[in-house]
Amino acid sequence: MPPSGQSPFAINAGNQFELVLRRDGAARLREALAKALPDVLESPDALAVEDLDVLVPWKSRPSSGDVSLARRKRTSESMRRCMEGELGEPMLVLHPRFRFQVFGSERDLEPDGLLLLPAGRNEEPELLLVEIKAFVDHGHRTDLHDLAQTRLQLAVYALALEQAARVDGLSVETPGDAVVVLRRAHSMFGIAGVEEIRREVERVRRAVDRGPQLVAEVLQLVPQDGRLDDASVLGSVPVRYAPGFCLSGCAMALQCREASSASGDPAYYGSPVSELLHGAGDLVRAHALIKRELQPTTPAEAEISERLGALRMRIDAARTRCT
Ligand code: SF4
Repeated sequence: MPPSGQSPFAINAGNQFELVLRRDGAARLREALAKALPDVLESPDALAVEDLDVLVPWKSRPSSGDVSLARRKRTSESMRRCMEGELGEPMLVLHPRFRFQVFGSERDLEPDGLLLLPAGRNEEPELLLVEIKAFVDHGHRTDLHDLAQTRLQLAVYALALEQAARVDGLSVETPGDAVVVLRRAHSMFGIAGVEEIRREVERVRRAVDRGPQLVAEVLQLVPQDGRLDDASVLGSVPVRYAPGFCLSGCAMALQCREASSASGDPAYYGSPVSELLHGAGDLVRAHALIKRELQPTTPAEAEISERLGALRMRIDAARTRCT
């Protein structure tokens, strides 16, 4: 089984589909993208293609350092040209490469594509990540789990892109949208659509930012003569409680659940509630915002109040009608 957990059959099907879309100067991919973004791509022919597998091909040794570096540099240069207005026409970079520093180590990531739009959807230069998936587009009946996984994958790429741009001194907003290309039923043609990935980006960012992440970082929090079998020492180490994971696999689960409950941490309820309410900090504040007893002070709080406050009012109104 490949390390990704996907079956070899699924990976093979995915690779085949991507190959077909990238054939003939990525003709089918350009066609799908032009249909999805008619306001910024007049026609498939209006989109230039820069294929890093052709321009900077891998040598006999896969992932060799010099090729990795050359691919990253080429990606950075294309992004710079787009953001600084030097790109005359929209361009699609195939297999762009980003360096991503996370959890104390560095990794290179290669999304399927990166759309560089000199005049994007807001007339400003825009970068849109592109991910190709071989599962079939069934419109509103498309597998939600597959789409959610794809958005999460794109969120990781978005943070890698943000990091790479920052290293290069480019002023690039973290992408809040990305393009997902699925397979049209009974064919090897693609259907592209713009997916919002803002929430996934924040979710991944929170996971990356929350410390401690490494055992060495945990040990730094333990006093010099402290022991991990001392409850007071253990209690001083911040936890990252996630019921779906912790309750099934950790002997500390009940203690961490109690700590999470005592502090009113939205993580107590696990995903998706914790994602929804984390912007308020704790459950008491979230509750007050939803009841509109508190004025939001941040955009995240305003979103909680707006989304869940309105829902609560509708539920209250329905309850009143029913009684
Ligand atoms: S239950 Fe275990 S894995 Fe979960 S936060 Fe506590 S110590 Fe960490």
